Amino acid sequence: MAANKSANFVERVRWLRKEGYSLSVCMPAEVDAKLMHAQSRTGVSEYANRFNSALDIERWMSEVFEPKKDKDDPNEIPIRVKKALCIDEVQDAGLWLVDAIGNLIERGRTIVVAGRETDFRGEPFPIMEKLRPLADSYMVLTAVCVICGRKAERSQRLVDGKPAPWDSPVRERGGPRETYQPRCVAHHEVPGRPGG
Ligand SMILES: [Zn+2]
Repeated sequence: MAANKSANFVERVRWLRKEGYSLSVCMPAEVDAKLMHAQSRTGVSEYANRFNSALDIERWMSEVFEPKKDKDDPNEIPIRVKKALCIDEVQDAGLWLVDAIGNLIERGRTIVVAGRETDFRGEPFPIMEKLRPLADSYMVLTAVCVICGRKAERSQRLVDGKPAPWDSPVRERGGPRETYQPRCVAHHEVPGRPGG
């Protein structure tokens, strides 16, 4: 994406790893396979992890973050590890994820999420609005409109170079036919917009 959301996310993942964090890097199961494949080429090997329930996340957290005690050595001191869960494309997840993340934060976990605030039609993703108040820090990435150079608040979806209609699926599909451009509100085109 033009605002470099995923590049920024990957940079943060690498920083956490350098700082000695034990990480789980994942995406919602709803993310289209083609898009996921594109993201996995960023060099973050765990990028292919997908979840579709709070149970999936809990399972990973226990596998990745709670080192199993050695039964043969009762005196073994569990290793203290810095733990982080990193989720990209969070806008595609179900709203259940808000509670799951809230629980993890209460347990002292470090969570990094990246997502788009609005869909291709310019409508907000409700999950982003619900996650925002949970965040200690919140970074909004901006781009410039490819047509006029002003601040681009919108993401223009093009299919075969033409603006995608209002009634097309909200989720990003990835793949060569579907491309995106940063655009300002004035240059954002969504044919078939109700009342438009
Ligand atoms: Zn413009």
